[in-house]
Amino acid sequence: MKRTLYWVTKDLRIADNAALQLASQSNELICVYIIDKKWFQINKFQSKPLGEKRWQFLQASLNDLNQSLSTLEQKLYIVYGDTLSTLGSLCEQFKITDLITTKVPGTDENSLLSKLHTLNPELTINQVDQFTLFTENALPFEINNLPASYSKFRKVMSSIAIQQPSSAVKALPCMFQATPSVTLYQLEPSQASTIGRPEQGHIFKGGEQQGLKHLKQYFASENPSVYKEVRNSLDGWENSTKLSPWINYGCLSVRQVMQHIKHYEQTVESNKSTESLYLELLWRDYFQWVHFKVDAKMYQFKGLVGSAPLTTFYPERFKKWCLGKTPYPLVNACMNELRHSGYLSNRGRQIVASCLVNELSVDWRYGAAWFEEQLIDYDAAINWGNWQYIAGVGVDPRGGRHFNIKKQTNTHDLNGDYQAKWLDKSSNTAYLDQILDSVDASDWPISSDSATISSAVNALTTSSFSRNNVK
Ligand SMILES: Cc1cc2nc3c(=O)[nH]c(=O)nc-3n(C[C@H](O)[C@H](O)[C@H](O)COP(=O)(O)OP(=O)(O)OC[C@H]3O[C@@H](n4cnc5c(N)ncnc54)[C@H](O)[C@@H]3O)c2cc1C
Repeated sequence: MKRTLYWVTKDLRIADNAALQLASQSNELICVYIIDKKWFQINKFQSKPLGEKRWQFLQASLNDLNQSLSTLEQKLYIVYGDTLSTLGSLCEQFKITDLITTKVPGTDENSLLSKLHTLNPELTINQVDQFTLFTENALPFEINNLPASYSKFRKVMSSIAIQQPSSAVKALPCMFQATPSVTLYQLEPSQASTIGRPEQGHIFKGGEQQGLKHLKQYFASENPSVYKEVRNSLDGWENSTKLSPWINYGCLSVRQVMQHIKHYEQTVESNKSTESLYLELLWRDYFQWVHFKVDAKMYQFKGLVGSAPLTTFYPERFKKWCLGKTPYPLVNACMNELRHSGYLSNRGRQIVASCLVNELSVDWRYGAAWFEEQLIDYDAAINWGNWQYIAGVGVDPRGGRHFNIKKQTNTHDLNGDYQAKWLDKSSNTAYLDQILDSVDASDWPISSDSATISSAVNALTTSSFSRNNVK
């Protein structure tokens, strides 16, 4: 008798979901998503793990999954609380024999599962390998021998076949007959709305159905044929796929995206741009495997290379960067877009990350944590991996990247259209001529309790940068 708890995490979909397929072979099943209360608490880098925009996207995605499960006579139990104790008490209450979840990299997730196993030695824990293009078994090397650079990884993987996605689960076992003893969280249906700034062309809507719709639309257009030429633009909805939020919550699997690339290549055109799309997905895979390999080093100041960058924490500089009030207009425009929409182009992310590290000399981890709070498409491995790369402590064989802001402005925003869209022209812009540090860093009033940059930024943001000011 298999009594299974399917712990849903970054796999908010029915189609191509090997974890749900496995769960479908049980006798009785409960599907659980845990909203961990830690996600809303300020961390040591002055930011929250989950910001408002991604929270909205997540709620819409959970609503969508719940609706899909209800067509299979199941439901999603959404619980608010501490993840370990919630899983522990559900396993105990329902005498769970099997726990199924998707295998994701991350120190918290993995230490949590090993603690759960210690508490319940009888419990069978199945971590399903489906978060990446390739499964670990398909890698032609042990994780500990992961190639040290992306280009080497790419070469090694070029001959390895990618598994086809599977179709949606057709039937699921019945639910348990008792109500869980934990507190269930009620999602507000109104959260299933558009996130970002629709008037600026941001149209992210959470959930598998919306993700599939967007995937089909992108590959029904001619955009994949020119992706390589336009992907570095600072602006433009169609200049990159915008699939990242759906991929990262698992509303879409990365293999479904790959299948669409292949289909486009077979039916429309195969060129450098379509190849480039695959290579970006491969970058995503590479960072996931790096994270699996290095674990906690992903979040350490010295990074993978183990040498400390010449940066520190300057609270005032960091706050100005978060608020888009640095002496660099292009950086400010990017930071405003990020704060107001939850999205920023890859080039924008590179420019602002380089600015924080190289121009402002701020510890890169504060920037990574700010991105974690703000981004609608946050992914631990990709975010911290890219930040390490730019800070020169990651997988970059060249030892870090310094983007020349003037040159980037001339190349990507010569006419100033992007800056005009996102800079706050109506309020005082005197900060552009100011020196970075108005007070000595040691005098800056900052407390270690909850009155942190994050809450200060939220307060300042609403007062000094009304949403309507964005042109
Ligand atoms: C400092 C910094 C932080 C970043 N943080 C994140 C993050 O938290 N989450 C995230 O998904 N991406 C992150 N990226 C990578 C990249 O900026 C986004 O994936 C991309 O902008 C998302 O838009 P898109 O889906 O239109 O990308 P596209 O250009 O259409 O690319 C297709 C897919 O390829 C993958 N991809 C693209 N660029 C990269 C990259 N540089 N590294 C790894 N995978 C990539 C993503 O899955 C993306 O959805 C970060 C980049 C930088 C420089």
